[in-house]
Amino acid sequence: MENNQPKHDLSRKNSITTTATVDGATDSVGPGEVGAGTGRIPVSWDLEADVVVIGAGAAGLPAAIKAVEGGASVIVVETNYDIGGHAIISGGNTPLGGGTSAQRKYGIEDSPDLVFRDLTDWSIVQPNGWPDYRYNDRAVMRAFADHCAPTYEFLVANGADFKDVPPDNQGGHNLGNSAPRENHAVWTKGAGPESPNNRAGTGLIRPLENSARAKGVKFLLNYKMTSLIRKGQNTGRVLGITAQHTPRVMPGQTTPLKSFRSDGNIDSTKPAMSIRARKAVIIATGGMTSNLNFRRMFDPRLTEVLTVAGEPYTFQDASGELAAMAIGASLWGFANQTLENGDNIRTQRVLATKWNYMTWELEFPLFPLVRATGLAVKDWHNLILVNQVGKRFYDETKGDYPHGNVYNEINPYTPNDYRNNERIDYHPSKYNFFNAAVAMNEYSGPPDYSAGPLWAIFDADAVARNKWKVTPPYVDPDGYFFSADTLTELASKIKNEYQAKPMKGETLRATVERYNSFVDAGEDPDFGKPKPKYKIQTPPFYAAWATPNVHDTRSGLRINAKCQVMDMNGQVIPGLYCGGESAGGFNQHGLGRCTTQGYIAGINAAAEKSDE
Ligand SMILES: Cc1cc2nc3c(=O)[nH]c(=O)nc-3n(C[C@H](O)[C@H](O)[C@H](O)COP(=O)(O)OP(=O)(O)OC[C@H]3O[C@@H](n4cnc5c(N)ncnc54)[C@H](O)[C@@H]3O)c2cc1C
Repeated sequence: MENNQPKHDLSRKNSITTTATVDGATDSVGPGEVGAGTGRIPVSWDLEADVVVIGAGAAGLPAAIKAVEGGASVIVVETNYDIGGHAIISGGNTPLGGGTSAQRKYGIEDSPDLVFRDLTDWSIVQPNGWPDYRYNDRAVMRAFADHCAPTYEFLVANGADFKDVPPDNQGGHNLGNSAPRENHAVWTKGAGPESPNNRAGTGLIRPLENSARAKGVKFLLNYKMTSLIRKGQNTGRVLGITAQHTPRVMPGQTTPLKSFRSDGNIDSTKPAMSIRARKAVIIATGGMTSNLNFRRMFDPRLTEVLTVAGEPYTFQDASGELAAMAIGASLWGFANQTLENGDNIRTQRVLATKWNYMTWELEFPLFPLVRATGLAVKDWHNLILVNQVGKRFYDETKGDYPHGNVYNEINPYTPNDYRNNERIDYHPSKYNFFNAAVAMNEYSGPPDYSAGPLWAIFDADAVARNKWKVTPPYVDPDGYFFSADTLTELASKIKNEYQAKPMKGETLRATVERYNSFVDAGEDPDFGKPKPKYKIQTPPFYAAWATPNVHDTRSGLRINAKCQVMDMNGQVIPGLYCGGESAGGFNQHGLGRCTTQGYIAGINAAAEKSDE
């Protein structure tokens, strides 16, 4: 047995226990019990707690804290080497309103009813015409509206560091039109190694971790939940989980990465674990967009060439959804994933590194994996974007995404009024970049007819203008950055696992010559780029990876107002909760919905009757 006995003293009722088990989590079945999914009921469990939370991100940490505050013992199981998920490397912009103390302090009127009305308003559309709130589940929205302000106060009480400024509408999406609701977590760049990539989300997430540990939550890091164990085949309570050891060793290193804090960690290297949840399991695994097949259920265009924002720190691999579906859970709110929320697929302003949602710090613990900081683009006039064939396909300056509706975007705003559609800055062509980017081209072929990568093409003048450093570790020459003295040579050098065929030199040369003629003419008749500024003419020439990202998961497991997971018959699966991006029915970007649903799930999970 591993030495994972908890160090603090808890009563038997609330304790986290470790017991001897038959080898492996899945070997034996209790009398008369068949188990479910791939997880079978073990004779004895490796670990036990009242509430087992899967995932230590924006939903998981609040869930764990609320559960422990509700008197439950709690184990958080996290597959990564450290806590935080996407949330710790997020921008930390946190949409929570409904009458928060921050809103009151700055004289902003808001209420749960206003939040509810906003987030169920059918008449609101984004600048590309797609509706923000039309397909939201009303029961899930009501629960969010009612718990939004309490969640904000809870985050602050547990140390979340928000800027003391009036809540605004900056950095968020799908916040509702009636009141400013965006709060901004603070993290000072370079303040310390507790931030994996110096991101503002750390100012929200590390304090929650600290609070959870101080309140007695235990963390089982480097373990991935692989299945849920339910009493019967699609019937009865969820009893626990199985998990597998998933230490992360970076290329060129021999020892696994270590978490920033280790107090309260359950130390184990056992290959597999069974963990009993006496009251409930909470799925807070962060969604499904890193799972190629799962995401293509919603949009077949999202082929493997696309990476996901937040990778490779953590992955939205649908493991929560799949484990719950294996014991009968239903998915919910498919439209919210399929509709073109601009930030579901986005082109990023970072080049020459595979995971190009943000630039990477040299100190980022996963730097040996990401291999390059990347080059930040400030002005799309410095380059052209071509597809894998070597052809331009859209106005590069329109690569940004339409954000969801925010405060005051529709003005005047009359709730549920058909005229709201006419009052937005409606510009579908401005926001079709990503549709053109994932459209088929001459190289698209079987099996999936992928559009392939996008390449930014620029010259030595652009490098000088931007003061880009075009050597490692700023660029990744291993498939994501190339240079040559001629365009023909450059095209022939582009080799990447997603590039279907070599780019033809004459195609790239013709594309650049045509573009240069547009600079002379002062207009772009092909794609309407406004007054193209710079020719691409001075060697060396460069090709840098610029492929779009998938961003959010907006559809997931069906939950009710208490965040209980529902089955295909619309019945609650006893003992199973879900919050955050793995939960369906709620079209909003990010931290607001995730923290709030974690808060709700934690309260209700702790209030469950123990199965003892
Ligand atoms: C770069 C970036 C910037 C962002 N900026 C903002 C912003 O400014 N404002 C905003 O509102 N939103 C932002 N978001 C979105 C926001 O961070 C996410 O919506 C939010 O973190 C999702 O919370 P979650 O708990 O569902 O998932 P996460 O926070 O990702 O946490 C999920 C955790 O579950 C773990 N996990 C997954 N599967 C398993 C398993 N089987 N077993 C054990 N553990 C598992 C993962 O490793 C991860 O740690 C940003 C996202 C990214 C990637």
